[in-house]
Amino acid sequence: MTFQEFGIDNHIVKAVELLGYTSATTVQERVVPEGLQGKDLWVKSQTGSGKTAAFGAVLCEKVEWDQRYPQALVLVPTRELAIQVAEDVKNIGRFKRLNVVPIFGRVAIANQELQLKQRTHIVVGTPGRVRDLIQRGSLKLEQLKYVVIDEADEMFFIGLRQQVEEILRLLPTNRQTMLFSATLSEEIEAITTKFMKSPQEIAIESETQTALEIEQFAYEVEESDKINLLVQVTKSEKPKSCIIFANTQIKVDAVAHKLKQLGYPCQELHGGLTQKDRMKVMKRFKRNEFRYLIATDLAARGIDIDDVKLIINFDISRGAQNYVHRIGRSGRAGKSGKAITFYTSREKRSFQEILDYTKADIQLVSSNDLVITELMEQEFKKLITTAPKRKEEKSKELNQSITKLCIRAGKKDKIRTCEIVATICGIDGVVADDIGIIQILPMVTNVEILNKKGNLVYKELHSKTIKGKKRKVYFAK
Ligand code: AMP
Repeated sequence: MTFQEFGIDNHIVKAVELLGYTSATTVQERVVPEGLQGKDLWVKSQTGSGKTAAFGAVLCEKVEWDQRYPQALVLVPTRELAIQVAEDVKNIGRFKRLNVVPIFGRVAIANQELQLKQRTHIVVGTPGRVRDLIQRGSLKLEQLKYVVIDEADEMFFIGLRQQVEEILRLLPTNRQTMLFSATLSEEIEAITTKFMKSPQEIAIESETQTALEIEQFAYEVEESDKINLLVQVTKSEKPKSCIIFANTQIKVDAVAHKLKQLGYPCQELHGGLTQKDRMKVMKRFKRNEFRYLIATDLAARGIDIDDVKLIINFDISRGAQNYVHRIGRSGRAGKSGKAITFYTSREKRSFQEILDYTKADIQLVSSNDLVITELMEQEFKKLITTAPKRKEEKSKELNQSITKLCIRAGKKDKIRTCEIVATICGIDGVVADDIGIIQILPMVTNVEILNKKGNLVYKELHSKTIKGKKRKVYFAK
């Protein structure tokens, strides 16, 4: 099925096509039609199945452009996911000019409050900050009609259940709620009965589940031998991109330090880094600027990185559900992947729990079987000393058709949206549909110009007046 066949707005279909989604994934085929009918949904599907675009398409179709306050709220467990999901949904709603705002903790709340003062259609946020902004009256709920609880199992696993419940109690009851989780639990069932209206259950069967696309292996190894084994395994596998999970910041730093000494193109990611550095590392890894990411479970949750060839659990995960999340970073969107887990003799029970929970065929291998030949050594050396091929961002084509302009006039000059639209539409060859999101800030106004007309508008705006005056215009970053 294609997105056009869902009967949704052409603006959304166009964006989805530019993102390269030529046909819908199974979860999209099941979720979009039901979601469009306004039903409450309880969807069990793995990350990597295309669920963000599934609820993204439903929300973008449903929200009305001319409403002032947020109509949809998406709750996600981590800041990284808030940013990623907001970006994905924004891309889908781009041509409908939907303003999608990410909100998350540990950064200044004032900026987010300022953003929410603009016309906002969809908010994507982590529970703590969402609750704070609701309580401060900055996140208005009167027009809220659609709620998505994404990665519900993860949200509860990291102790956010109470906050999610508090938020759900504050929301208008006349709403559509869609809940997504990779795994099922009594806690999730409790939420669905307490806060949802006879939700329709949609379970995406195992053939599309990430775990089955991933070959899984495990080594029993003593703690002191792990680094050695890691080196052997990477030499033997020669992964072009790989995430190595360890359980603590200290461990991550230690492994990264060792691998850097050995010349591996690697970077570490954990909660001890500043938010800015975390984002930078993720962005660089997504672009394939280095091959090996050594991370705590921060990177395990829902983060969408294309084509990770190998996952190594340097430390066995805490909890079987987390194992599923970690290895799900590989084998995304139907691609194949591989996961290798190290466990010590004292962790046999944890390993057994994973086997029982996943019912996966995890093959036990011995480090004695790993023979690294001279040729393998050479090939590996070549791999880690050649720069990886950069990856284009998925939204590149979509973004190429969009130019962001910054006009030196804002709220202080009493500029209003209609004046900006009128001036831009006064340019020959430009119509209202070519204008994207307009954001009026105190001193400046940011305007998105769509359909590759940015240069034309930039050139012509210099000679036009807005509110009686010529205004300076720049290309925004
Ligand atoms: P998600 O499960 O939402 O994390 O999405 C997994 C990946 O699948 C993301 O990289 C999406 O960009 C990609 N994706 C989503 N829908 C489609 C589609 N219809 N066709 C191809 N790729 C898709």
